[in-house]
Amino acid sequence: MNYKKGIIKTKEENKMGKFEEFQFRTQPWFDQSNFQGFNQAIPMKTIVIYCFDPRAAEIPQAVATYFGDEVYPGENIINEEGARVGHTRTLFEVSNAGGRALSALQSVATMEYLFHVQNVVVVHHSFCGATAFTPEQLINEFHEHHHADLTSVIDHDSMAIMDYEKSLQHDLQLLRNSPAVPKNIKLYGFFYEMNSGKLTEVLRDIPDESKA
Ligand SMILES: [Zn+2]
Repeated sequence: MNYKKGIIKTKEENKMGKFEEFQFRTQPWFDQSNFQGFNQAIPMKTIVIYCFDPRAAEIPQAVATYFGDEVYPGENIINEEGARVGHTRTLFEVSNAGGRALSALQSVATMEYLFHVQNVVVVHHSFCGATAFTPEQLINEFHEHHHADLTSVIDHDSMAIMDYEKSLQHDLQLLRNSPAVPKNIKLYGFFYEMNSGKLTEVLRDIPDESKA
């Protein structure tokens, strides 16, 4: 195998725009300038940010059960032509290392534009890998072995979980202060004990609707 350096196209015949027919903006029925949201196709209202540790995979279901008015996992809605035109799910997942808010900001902003998000839930879980090191250990590792400065891309308290209540507090604060998170969105922080499956609400930040 002869590998080229950098980002390359794996099929030489691919021209720019080859997959254009699969974009919403190229569909004759789609009006980009008058977009009202995709909620009629998918009634999304809640985002759950949690760790991608496979042992904690039940978290979205546990949160859906806790709230009681969510549909998860839900099912596809198929039209007469067999196309996937919607889904019944209301609760979307964002999973990343530790279930941290920092890596989820782009998803929250995107989902706000597409669906108008109502709730963002952060869940940190027992025996998470993010409790196995300190921020300094991560920073030093990257300095020594990769000659890279992690502090320029990840804030100190998003690097590791040193204390579950503090990490949840940090993440709710990060969401509340971020321009990617509209001020009307309700925020929740949970701890999940993965061996018992017990989900505990630790924090909530509900905006005053009378001021909205
Ligand atoms: Zn974890």
